[in-house]
Amino acid sequence: MSDTPRAAYLPEGLPSPVPENDGLSAPYWAGLQQNRLLVQRCPHCTTWQFGPEWLCHHCHSFDVEWTEVEPRGRIFSWERIWSPSHDALRGRGPYLAVLVELPHAGHVRMVGNLLGDPLQTITIGTDVEGVFEHHHDAVPRYSLLHWQAAG
Ligand SMILES: [Zn+2]
Repeated sequence: MSDTPRAAYLPEGLPSPVPENDGLSAPYWAGLQQNRLLVQRCPHCTTWQFGPEWLCHHCHSFDVEWTEVEPRGRIFSWERIWSPSHDALRGRGPYLAVLVELPHAGHVRMVGNLLGDPLQTITIGTDVEGVFEHHHDAVPRYSLLHWQAAG
């Protein structure tokens, strides 16, 4: 894990990520601001799940809890993106999106950016670690979790 100050990975002009109005993902976003990765886990059947849901998808309990996990995983899938999905990304490609699997948290998977050379060779199964990127001056403030090959 690393939270070394660095320039923002993504260019200015993208919409700020904020929790949905219903607040379901708010604990996840709040955790990132504290260098913590939170994933839901059901205390009744111990099932992990991500993205967040109001109830456990396995036993249907409404008592799903947020649990801190180590921000590390392995690349389950990836894509080198050449076509910008937003005007702010025009001329900034390619960039790398990865689907990261967390074996120590029920193998949940989450999408993120892979830091480093956008033309780097990527191997499925490569170990990665999370890098927290804070935007404390943004309104509203937010933090992102990127990934990089584990060192
Ligand atoms: Zn459950």
